[in-house]
Amino acid sequence: MAWKTLDDMDLSGKVVLTRVDINVPMDAGRVTDTTRIDKIKPTVEAIIAKGGKVVLLAHFDRPKGKVVPEMSLSHVVGAVEASLGRKVVFGTDCIGAPAEAAIAAAGPGDVVLLENTRFHPGEEKNAPELAAEMAKLGQVFVNDAFSAAHRAHASTEGLAKLLPAAAGRLMEAELKALDAALGTPLRPVVAVVGGAKVSTKLDLLGNLVTKVDHLVIGGGMANTFLVAQGIEVGKSLAERDMADTAREILVKAKAAGCTIHLPIDVVVAREFKAGAAYDVVAADACPADAMILDAGPMTVAAIVKVFEACKTLIWNGPLGAFEIAPFDAATNAAAKSAAALTKTGSLISVAGGGDTVSALNQAGAAEDFTFISTAGGAFLEWMEGKELPGVAALMG
Ligand code: ADP
Ligand code: MG
Repeated sequence: MAWKTLDDMDLSGKVVLTRVDINVPMDAGRVTDTTRIDKIKPTVEAIIAKGGKVVLLAHFDRPKGKVVPEMSLSHVVGAVEASLGRKVVFGTDCIGAPAEAAIAAAGPGDVVLLENTRFHPGEEKNAPELAAEMAKLGQVFVNDAFSAAHRAHASTEGLAKLLPAAAGRLMEAELKALDAALGTPLRPVVAVVGGAKVSTKLDLLGNLVTKVDHLVIGGGMANTFLVAQGIEVGKSLAERDMADTAREILVKAKAAGCTIHLPIDVVVAREFKAGAAYDVVAADACPADAMILDAGPMTVAAIVKVFEACKTLIWNGPLGAFEIAPFDAATNAAAKSAAALTKTGSLISVAGGGDTVSALNQAGAAEDFTFISTAGGAFLEWMEGKELPGVAALMG
């Protein structure tokens, strides 16, 4: 791997500035889900085991360069202490005397948490002066916030250029999984792209057709591809003005040797509500007054066959309107098949995207996937083939 990890760094006696994502959900001053905090524990433990002092840098919510008391990281100190099982010393600013005092006050094995980096306008502007002020506080920079790596900010990209820098354990796991799925994958590779709209996933589709052997298109965006082939889709969600674009993607796929799989049969209904009456019809037989809300069983069987023939799967976007049963059936069945193939060792499966993660959890399949990315925007930009500045800064 081209990026450095904690294993490459000498941390003994050093102050290690560690960028993490602990932007956890809060309700009435209480952290409601500590997953993001729990996930930084391996990195914190590794740094301490190597003799370093952990100084956490993080953003919280969107204060837009101003001090907003409700968005202070002081509110998460208790949750961080509970999750890490270590004493946390809070610094009321991420630079200057308050930060220095907190670092000095922390004893061996304590963790320092500095105030919200986004309280400074220079953070999101990637201001060199702010990065330089942060760099003064320590000797090594560790970035464990893959989910923030698609933005060049002072505490992500700026700082990495000023200090010896490495990926933390969580970032390392994410980079390895993503590389295994699209960088240097075992072939054949299948990508599943679903979700609502083609227009939000154009770059993603354009990149994938050049990289994968099979592309399964599902969800609302499959309707747009059906329209592009002259098929009527009734009242379905479809972007008719995207038909030309969809055709261009099909042409690009053919040239690149990527086989596209569109729905063969579909689930149609007149209303989008729980338990609505539905029919399964051929993909070109959606009644004029109905909408396509899911892929049908023949389509699922075809998808499972592709999964069985492939060694690597990368998935973003549900195959249907999975929030409401029975329109979650295709997503659930395909997810369960991918999970089972992963369990037997015949498939490497990587998935990401906000709704995708909920859909795979809902299907009870997430645990058996090789890797589920919770990075949201950063995961999507990576699937689009874009260079992530926070990762690029860790190279070499
Ligand atoms: P992600 O958040 O994982 O990137 P998207 O936001 O692109 O995924 O897509 C998820 C949304 O797509 C869901 O709200 C789902 O209901 C919707 N969707 C999927 N298939 C259809 C369909 N056939 N008709 C309408 N909406 C659909
Ligand atoms: Mg979404």
